[in-house]
Amino acid sequence: MIQYTIKYARIKHSRIRMSKNGEFLFSIPVKKANDEKLLQTLIAKAEEFKQRKINKKRQEIKEEEGNYIIIFGEKIEKQKIKEDLHKYLEALLSKESREFLKKYSKKLNVSYQKLTLKSYKWKWWSCSHTNNISLNLKLVHLPIIFLEYVIVHEVCHIKEKNHSKNFWSLVEKLFPEYKKIRKDLKMIQL
Ligand SMILES: [Zn+2]
Repeated sequence: MIQYTIKYARIKHSRIRMSKNGEFLFSIPVKKANDEKLLQTLIAKAEEFKQRKINKKRQEIKEEEGNYIIIFGEKIEKQKIKEDLHKYLEALLSKESREFLKKYSKKLNVSYQKLTLKSYKWKWWSCSHTNNISLNLKLVHLPIIFLEYVIVHEVCHIKEKNHSKNFWSLVEKLFPEYKKIRKDLKMIQL
């Protein structure tokens, strides 16, 4: 149902306007003052217009709600939660990595310089010649054995800089199942 008022005017074509309070004003040509069919058409058009407006408003509310989540009655931005989650995962990966680093560098009696976590697009980690270890943050999403392999790989590089036979036998010594894990890791798409 719509609210409307009619104004007869010296115009050629009828017009519909909606005021801010949602009421409609129909301007109808004087000549068509008694045209019931025209009035019905205008009413139908106005109803359709109003419905479209309501739908649009509902859609806007829905979209806005999509950006938030209610936690204990408080509106929290989903983006903020995403950032917090990112920080949490970063801290988790860092903690697990350091534990493996500690374990394996002790076994080989070597020390690493620095551990960094990065959002690499194309690689799981970066081999460095300066004993700095850079890991892809996405390792946090894989079973932990992959992280362990990567750490072993990197720790072995502290002793053996290239991928020589000596390097791989060192890896094997610390991590006997390395071949399978290495193969599986290559199959996982970043
Ligand atoms: Zn390597």
